[in-house]
Amino acid sequence: MNKKQNLPKTNSRRAFVKNATKAAILSAAGLSVIGTMSACEEKSKEESSATSENKQVKPTVFTQAALPYEFAALEPHIDAQTMEIHYGKHHAGYVRKLNAAVEKEGVSDDLNTIFQHISKYNTAIRNNGGGHYNHTLFWEGMTPAGEGKPTGALAKAINKDFGSFEDFKTKFSAAASGRFGSGWAWLVITADKKLAIGSTPNQDNPLMADAEIKGTPLLNLDVWEHAYYLKYQNMRADYISSWWNLVNWEEVARRFES
Ligand code: MN
Repeated sequence: MNKKQNLPKTNSRRAFVKNATKAAILSAAGLSVIGTMSACEEKSKEESSATSENKQVKPTVFTQAALPYEFAALEPHIDAQTMEIHYGKHHAGYVRKLNAAVEKEGVSDDLNTIFQHISKYNTAIRNNGGGHYNHTLFWEGMTPAGEGKPTGALAKAINKDFGSFEDFKTKFSAAASGRFGSGWAWLVITADKKLAIGSTPNQDNPLMADAEIKGTPLLNLDVWEHAYYLKYQNMRADYISSWWNLVNWEEVARRFES
C-alpha cells in the first residue's frame, strides 16, 4: 500500500524523487484511465479467452491501486485518519463488493463497458463499480504538492468556458456544496469538447449512460460525509475550500490532453 516502502533507498537526489513520484502516479493512473483495464483485469480477460472452449465466463477481477502518497500526506487539509478509513475501509469495501457482485452475475466486462450500458447491471454493480472508479480518480486527482492552479491548454480552456479560474472554482464549489446528501462534484469534458461542471448522487458518475452530467471526468470531489466528517463535521464548505489546495493540476491536465 505504501509506495515509498518499495522505493530503493540508495539515492536521495531530487530528480530521483521526482521521477519516482511520477512513476507512482502513472502506475496508479493505469486503473483510472477511461476504458482501460488494470494489469490484473487484462490478465483475467486473456485467461478467459484462452479457455473459451469451456464456454465459461471468467468474471473480471478488480484491484485497488496503491495510494500515490501516504495517509498523512494531505494534512492539514485532509487528516490521516480520514484517509486511512476512506481508502482502507470505504474504497476497499467497494472493490470487494464489486468483485463479489460480478462473480455472482458472471460479468466479465470492464468498468467503461459497465458504465456505458449501466441499466443492464444490478444495483450492486452500479454502486460498487461507481465507488471503485470514482475513488481511484479522486485519489489520483490530489497531491501534497498541489500547484494551486492549472497552466497551459487546460488553464486556457477553463478561462474560455467559465470566464476565469476564480469563476470556475466558484461554480465547482457550488456544485459540491449544493449536492443534497451523498455524491460527487465533477469537471468533465463533453462530447463536443467543452468543459462542464455538475454533480451526481451516490456513486454515480458522468460515464454512466443515465447520469445527470455526461462526459469524460477530469476532476472529481467526494462530498459524502465519510470524506470529511471526522475533521470538518457538518461544515462541508470548509472541506471544499481546503481541498482546492490539494488538486493535482498536472494529473488533471494529463486527463484533459489525453
Ligand atoms: Mn468516498
